[in-house]
Order: sequence, then C-alpha cells, then structure tokens
Amino acid sequence: MSLIADNLKNVQDKISKSAQKAGVNAEEIELVVVTKTRTIEEIDDVLDCGINNIAENYVQEAQSKFAEIGNIVKWHMIGHLQTNKAKQAVEVFDLVQSVDSFDLAQELSKRALAAGKTLDVLVEVNISREEQKFGVKPEETLDFIEKLADLEGIVVMGLMGMAPLLDNPEDTRPYFRELRSLWEKLPEEQRVYLSMGMTCDFEQAILEGSNMVRIGTAIFGQRK
Ligand SMILES: *Cc1c(COP(=O)(O)O)cnc(C)c1O
Repeated sequence: MSLIADNLKNVQDKISKSAQKAGVNAEEIELVVVTKTRTIEEIDDVLDCGINNIAENYVQEAQSKFAEIGNIVKWHMIGHLQTNKAKQAVEVFDLVQSVDSFDLAQELSKRALAAGKTLDVLVEVNISREEQKFGVKPEETLDFIEKLADLEGIVVMGLMGMAPLLDNPEDTRPYFRELRSLWEKLPEEQRVYLSMGMTCDFEQAILEGSNMVRIGTAIFGQRK
C-alpha cells in the first residue's frame, strides 16, 4: 500500500471510532479530502482508494486540476472566494462551502442561473471570531441565511466552520458546539451538511456532531 493509502486508511479508522463514540453511523460522515497544493499523482492515489469528494482553496488551481480529473468526483470549494471568480467557480465546483457575504451569494446565484445550474452552498461561519478569518458572524448567521432564500440558482445545504488552532484539540469543542447549535436552528431542508473538523481536530468535531470533515495533512503529509 502507498503511504497515502495507508494514511487514508488510518484517518478512516479514526473517523469510524469517533463516529461510534458519538453514537452515529460512520457512513453518515462524509470525508472530503483537501487537495490544495497536491499533485495529480498524489490525488490519483486517493481516488484509487475510492475517495469521491475533494476540496480546493483556489479557483485557478482547481480549474487546472479539474481539466485533468474531470467530474468523476464531487468538487468542494473551501477557500475564500472572490466575487470576480464566481463564474469559474460555478463551472468547477459542486459545493461551495465558503459563502461568506451576500455579494458573493448574489453573484453565485446569477452565474449559476446563467449556466443553467443549481449550485449547492454552505455558509461559512467565523466561529473562532478571529479578525483575519472569513465567515459570517455567528450572531448574524440565521438572518443572513434567511436573506439568501430569495436567490435562485443556489441552495443552502448547511454550515461550515473552523475552530481556532489550539494546543489542546479538546479545547476546540465549544467552538464546534456553537456551530452545531446554529445548524440545529436551520429549517430541516438546510440541515444537510455540518462541515467541521480538519487534521488537528476532526475527532473532536465528530463528537460535536460534524457530518463532513475536511482533511489534507493527515493524508498527504505537511504542505510545503
Ligand atoms: C486547508 C484546509 C483544510 C485542511 O487542513 P489540514 O490541516 O491539512 O487537514 C480544511 N479546511 C479548510 C477551510 C482549509 O483551508
């Protein structure tokens, strides 16, 4: 087995164990493999293992990889998206997890309509409340989502958030808990994905109710 396949297996085992602890079915937790900075060869390794969800942070990088890999997988956008990249984003991505402003949502809606598509989106919430992080403020999230209801061509499928980087991963749990409780307040049709947890904290995120984890480093190693 390749190192990447080995690492992937380890991550999947940990997801299963955490799911069991959380009292949920492991199959209900979606693993999204974060492929930013990784080569096509590295990505092929995880695709060979049956991975069907990959995530990128930059539109341009995703476009060039999409040209090689195509739509045999579901493409997730998890980085900050500039309004002027909405058109290209609609062409590549199946789920934009990083909707953080009304302007962006409006532009995605317009571009999706023009392309004759319906784009699934998540609203990114700034649960860490760090200035330099993107995302809607937790206290403004529910009003924000209500405003999106008028936009055709995009469908809100849930929430995405990132905990702050903390020495003890257990300390991330209150942040995840806050996102979970916001998610619980959404109308049922929008409570599809609760995207939280990355390499350093996915086990804690699952214990707090995550059903979508986004993992890169634990599978491919440190990014250069
Ligand atoms: C890079 C990134 C990840 C993956 O981080 P790892 O620590 O490599 O697992 C997850 N979510 C977002 C939003 C990211 O930008």
